[in-house]
Amino acid sequence: MDVLVIGAGVAGLAAARALHLAGHSVLVLEARDRIGGRVHTVRIAGWPVPLEAGAEFIHGKPPPLKALSGNDRREVKGRQYLAGLRPGNELWESVQEKLPSLRPLRDRSVEDAFRTLRWRLRTSEEERSMAAAFVEGFNAARLDRASVKAILQQMEAARKIGGDRIARLPRGYDRVAQRLSRGLRVELNSPVLELRWSRKGVEALTARGSLSAECAVVTLPLGVLQKSTVRFVPPLPQRKLLSISRLAMGPVVKVALLFEKPLWPRDLAFLQAGGEVPTFWRPLPSRAPVLIGWAASRKALALRGKDAVAAAVRSLRAALEKPVEPVDARVFEWQDDPWSRGAYSWVPVGAMKAQRELAERVGPLFFAGEATEFQGACGTVHGAIETGRRAAREILADR
Ligand SMILES: Cc1cc2nc3c(=O)[nH]c(=O)nc-3n(C[C@H](O)[C@H](O)[C@H](O)COP(=O)(O)OP(=O)(O)OC[C@H]3O[C@@H](n4cnc5c(N)ncnc54)[C@H](O)[C@@H]3O)c2cc1C
Repeated sequence: MDVLVIGAGVAGLAAARALHLAGHSVLVLEARDRIGGRVHTVRIAGWPVPLEAGAEFIHGKPPPLKALSGNDRREVKGRQYLAGLRPGNELWESVQEKLPSLRPLRDRSVEDAFRTLRWRLRTSEEERSMAAAFVEGFNAARLDRASVKAILQQMEAARKIGGDRIARLPRGYDRVAQRLSRGLRVELNSPVLELRWSRKGVEALTARGSLSAECAVVTLPLGVLQKSTVRFVPPLPQRKLLSISRLAMGPVVKVALLFEKPLWPRDLAFLQAGGEVPTFWRPLPSRAPVLIGWAASRKALALRGKDAVAAAVRSLRAALEKPVEPVDARVFEWQDDPWSRGAYSWVPVGAMKAQRELAERVGPLFFAGEATEFQGACGTVHGAIETGRRAAREILADR
């Protein structure tokens, strides 16, 4: 084997694909019984649409997803609503327009930036509260610790690819992973327990035996690296360990609710309900009577050990101001998933450099995965694909 790729998420598959197309012999080792990692489409009998347990949206028109999403991409068109079914588009747009003005001279937490006189003078109380809920919910990041510089970098990167226009893949996001994996050798059910590395190459130990290669692309999620479930022999250098500990993984709980018929206006796309499960959306363009609830960061942690479906129903009942009785429900929780340990990464104050350091090569080990993206696309599918391709370019340049 020339290259071992650890992890068959989109970063690992993109790296493997680029190396395979360049003529290298590549093997992907994946712990789960499926490819895709945090891109996970679930098809359940009795549900009118496939459910996305993980990634759901394409933000704007990111180049890596153009060819990979093929003709499946459908733009989400509809309106924002607030609790009480008040129209929310104006408030939403005004918050999106004002957030970039937070621009701080030095890095600080988003919460600190929200406290500045400049921000308070520019915004109404309702805008401030929506801005806080949006940043914490969208980034799965704690406002009191998240770097405002990193958040603004991400907003700017999203703006450049038209990120305000979002799209879905109604037939399933997993088609992206399937397209990436064509022709590749992927060993499922093969968690790597130990990774031995030296100048001579790498050796991966799995429960089924050991495999050697000249080098490896490590796409283990940040949460997995933080838990040290894979033993590196010798241990990773201090600089790498520090970068792993300085970045943060955000928790997310998704709750899918199926109803007999829609209980919301025809043009509703998003409902900013507030409460325990603060955001809901419809799986547009399907008009199926399904809502997806989203709780991230502290809201997700607050649901631990609780009935997330009951919490979603409480939030929805309060926002729609009528009884809400789903006929079926599913909960997708990422924090306890042993192969991701969280939904996606975010950058605490002063830790932007850590993303670059996490991406740096260590001997025969090349690093990829969403948390190694340092140009404002961490925590996204397109960002993860980019990092896989970057790692492949590094390997090809080395030969
Ligand atoms: C709930 C949720 C919602 C999201 N929403 C969006 C969205 O709308 N739009 C968007 O662009 N992005 C979204 N994302 C983020 C996006 O899914 C990720 O950024 C991206 O899929 C990460 O890809 P990756 O390859 O870096 O990591 P992963 O997909 O996590 O791949 C890593 C792989 O490594 C495997 N692995 C772990 N440990 C081992 C081991 N010891 N041995 C072998 N294999 C191992 C894992 O099983 C996994 O398959 C969302 C994520 C979540 C969880």
